[in-house]
Amino acid sequence: MLFDLHLHSRYSVDALTKPETIVKIMKKNKFGFSLTDHNNVDAYTKGKITQLAKKEGVFLIPGEEIKVLENTSSDAKCVGEVIGYFLQKEIKPSTFESIFDQIKEQDALLSCPHPFDWPRKNFKEFPSLWKKFDAMEVYNARAYYQGLNKKSVDFFETVAKGKIAPLANSDAHTPEELGNGLTEIDAENETEFRKAIKKRQTIPIPMGKANLWHHFQTQMARKHWMKER
Ligand SMILES: [Zn+2]
Repeated sequence: MLFDLHLHSRYSVDALTKPETIVKIMKKNKFGFSLTDHNNVDAYTKGKITQLAKKEGVFLIPGEEIKVLENTSSDAKCVGEVIGYFLQKEIKPSTFESIFDQIKEQDALLSCPHPFDWPRKNFKEFPSLWKKFDAMEVYNARAYYQGLNKKSVDFFETVAKGKIAPLANSDAHTPEELGNGLTEIDAENETEFRKAIKKRQTIPIPMGKANLWHHFQTQMARKHWMKER
């Protein structure tokens, strides 16, 4: 089955897509997916996406993209982002150590989105801490230029091949971007999915790229959110 394992809904400050729309598009394309909003799981609690996906027979893996902070002070700098899959509850932005502990406690999986994409909050410590991760993106369709994905591919090929599951994801913030990055995984249920990740049996398939219009819409969504709150 093909999966898009990194995408955003209107519960992210920089996206406006409704959970219903995402489920509809995934159903039409027969994709499995993980909705990974920024620093919250509101689409699962308030947005009821789990129920929507179940009703439509779409394979959904609960997820969240979490900001990593440099330290525990109130004005701590962001040092990147990581993604948790199979989360049972929300993880707040925190230090990597704290996020990692919570991931283990929840029996969740840890992935690194856009590991070398420095304009977009890449997790700077990934090259030294990569063994703590179950998966990494070797393709993110929102990279501003392909050299940033190439760095991930090079790292994977030379250092991490066979030891971490490679993923290709859309990081979609608009409906048109869904499926821009897909990963083929031989899994029809959660147990098979976990097993495939642990065995590193994933095939990343780059499909398309976000264009300037998509990035522009992200900026507009942010403005809209600021007005609303
Ligand atoms: Zn993202």
